[in-house]
Amino acid sequence: MRIIFATGNKDKMKEIRAILADLGMEILSMKEAGLTADITEDGVTFEENAEIKALAIAGLCRDIVLADDSGLEIDALGGEPGIYSARYLGEDTSYRVKNKNLIDRLEGIPDEKRTARFVCVIAAVFPDGSSEVVRGVIEGRIGYEERGNNGFGYDPIFIAPEYGCTTAELSEEQKNRISHRGKALEMMKIIIKDRIEK
Ligand code: IMP
Repeated sequence: MRIIFATGNKDKMKEIRAILADLGMEILSMKEAGLTADITEDGVTFEENAEIKALAIAGLCRDIVLADDSGLEIDALGGEPGIYSARYLGEDTSYRVKNKNLIDRLEGIPDEKRTARFVCVIAAVFPDGSSEVVRGVIEGRIGYEERGNNGFGYDPIFIAPEYGCTTAELSEEQKNRISHRGKALEMMKIIIKDRIEK
């Protein structure tokens, strides 16, 4: 049995492959599996969007389908950009611009009020039609400037308390160990292991 991950994002696929490697299963992106779908992510929660994506792809194959929906919630901005993280200021706007904009919007906000979290929800649809959803979270705060060249997206402005630096300053391994996606994938890995052993 194969696992198809419903994403076109190469950075995510890299993290996913690293974390799920010990399942010993073939893990393919939609593209690698030759699947295309025009999916409208019109849910209002991370859970709804992850399920919408997973169900759409599950309708096209007989594999285990995983889909994630993730984003950054900044408390001082009422949870923005939240489920709109990828679309914030436009899908094609560079993260240099998005990150600078968020830092500008937090001008004058002191350290203790710069709290934020990355959220990752993963939905799985199994060949028998059943589904499971898990949520991983990493709490942190927003810095005052971009730092670090690793990772992607909002990583350069997200300070992880365990390390006192941004998630863009961590190695891939360090980030996977503490990240929202790492945690959600570890939870999902246990569920999948359980299923295939039965
Ligand atoms: P999705 O592909 O709809 O889940 O969009 C997730 C968006 O949230 C990404 O495009 C990034 O903007 C942001 N995001 C999610 N996870 C991370 C992360 O690990 N680091 C930095 N940004 C992230």
